[in-house]
Amino acid sequence: MFTLFTDRYGGVSAPPYDFLNFGDHVGDELSSVSSNRDALVARVGPTVFMNQVHGDAFAVVTSSTIATPTCDALITTVSGINLAVQVADCIPLLIASDGVVAAVHVGRKGLCNDITQKVLTEMVRLGGRNFRAWMGPHICGRCYEVSQDIYDEVVAKYPAARSQSAQGTLALDLAKALYGVLDSFDVQVDPSHICTHESPDHFSYRRDGKTGRSVGVISL
Ligand SMILES: [Zn+2]
Repeated sequence: MFTLFTDRYGGVSAPPYDFLNFGDHVGDELSSVSSNRDALVARVGPTVFMNQVHGDAFAVVTSSTIATPTCDALITTVSGINLAVQVADCIPLLIASDGVVAAVHVGRKGLCNDITQKVLTEMVRLGGRNFRAWMGPHICGRCYEVSQDIYDEVVAKYPAARSQSAQGTLALDLAKALYGVLDSFDVQVDPSHICTHESPDHFSYRRDGKTGRSVGVISL
């Protein structure tokens, strides 16, 4: 079993995507994105990416040569296939178990549409046992300031997400809510304490707008 979370260093993309951008939908030169992805593949092996849409769909992958699926989570029971989730503030969630692994894109919408529960249910159906998970660098509960209506919508479903910004305004702690979800499935979690919004070493959409995407990668 293998896991990896990238930061912004080690790639060839020019500012504002400097340097290791994996997103091919953010305005970066596609040749730079290809070069960055090729370097990752050279390092870790065949890797499947997603066209992420903040939905609740997942794809069960059995080959690394498929067309890029449009979904927000990848699952596989095949060893040697790397699954990549792209982020710039959202939570890159990697889940391992005996025989099944998954990479999940958990932002505010993913939390509210229960993508993690859907993925875990499918992993159990596929024979997964002894779950553990890693949350990669993401925006923290002090930095993720939101409007009243978004706050109300998320907190109504996940009271644990209730947070306050450094300025005392309404904010959401998505990771705290996700802990609760993972705990309900008895999943041990290894958290990241890096906040993408505060770390100059990471891409942050909230901070920079036009920026790159890092990846979380897992394989059996
Ligand atoms: Zn923060």
